[in-house]
Amino acid sequence: MIKFDKTQIRELESQIFEQSGVRLLIKREDQNHPFVSGNKWWKLKYNLETAQQQGYKTLLTFGGAYSNHIYATAAAAHELGLKSIGIIRGEETKPLNHMLAFAESQGMKLQHISREAYRQKTEEAFIQNLHDQFGDFYLIPEGGTNELAVKSCAEFATQLNAEVDFDYLCLPVGTGGTVAGMIEGLDESKKIIGFPVLKGATFLEDEIAKYTPKHNWQLMYDYHFGGYAKVTNELTEFMDQFETQFNIPLDPIYTSKIMFGITDLIKKKFFIPGTTIMAIHTGGLQGKAGFNS
Ligand SMILES: *Cc1c(COP(=O)(O)O)cnc(C)c1O
Repeated sequence: MIKFDKTQIRELESQIFEQSGVRLLIKREDQNHPFVSGNKWWKLKYNLETAQQQGYKTLLTFGGAYSNHIYATAAAAHELGLKSIGIIRGEETKPLNHMLAFAESQGMKLQHISREAYRQKTEEAFIQNLHDQFGDFYLIPEGGTNELAVKSCAEFATQLNAEVDFDYLCLPVGTGGTVAGMIEGLDESKKIIGFPVLKGATFLEDEIAKYTPKHNWQLMYDYHFGGYAKVTNELTEFMDQFETQFNIPLDPIYTSKIMFGITDLIKKKFFIPGTTIMAIHTGGLQGKAGFNS
């Protein structure tokens, strides 16, 4: 198994929270591993174990040029002595951005394919083609979301709740795998709020329902700031101010959007006094360095 550091839970103290009578806790899961951080560690856990148990020597997965999942998979494979292949959406640009350059430095073989071809990535013929080209590999889907990822995220939620009690769990949503797992890992007295970072991502309702029959969750669609990897001045100002106030770094793609969203909901009195909110810092800080570059 890859290494894991147990992370802290911190309470964020501010006048806004105090005045609203709510407590806001943050689980610093960004600190669980230097490279395979945040929810990516959990999503990969059982996939890595299974690949190893079944004797695979190579992992193959998919992602965009700024994918945290590609970054994490490359580092995890390197740590375990496995080979890795990343199928990257879109034309190659040189020099590689820092995310892909890191993946390559971890030994990941990168293959760029057209956006059109990328859309076929779950089709059998397409995967057969990859086998013809690369031989045997353990396939991890885009974003790392599958049953094993969901199972592991459920365990994360159960462990978290054993450590500290809360009423609401809040986290960012990309493909929905992490939130689905965390819903599964908590009993129905908890409420889970997911903040999609994609614009108009209503398909997520079905995506999450594929993995959990529970209904104690909702998605807040108003905090995508224009869509995936889009930011506004309001968001970057919030991010800077949050980092200064609490001394916790955020990334612009995921975690700044949920912290903004939670703060906004608190200001709007969404949460009744006495509520304890747990926010998950899902990591992604590596995405910050090269942002807009
Ligand atoms: C990938 C990622 C997410 C989204 O996780 P999903 O399981 O795809 O919803 C959230 N936060 C960070 C930092 C991520 O890297």
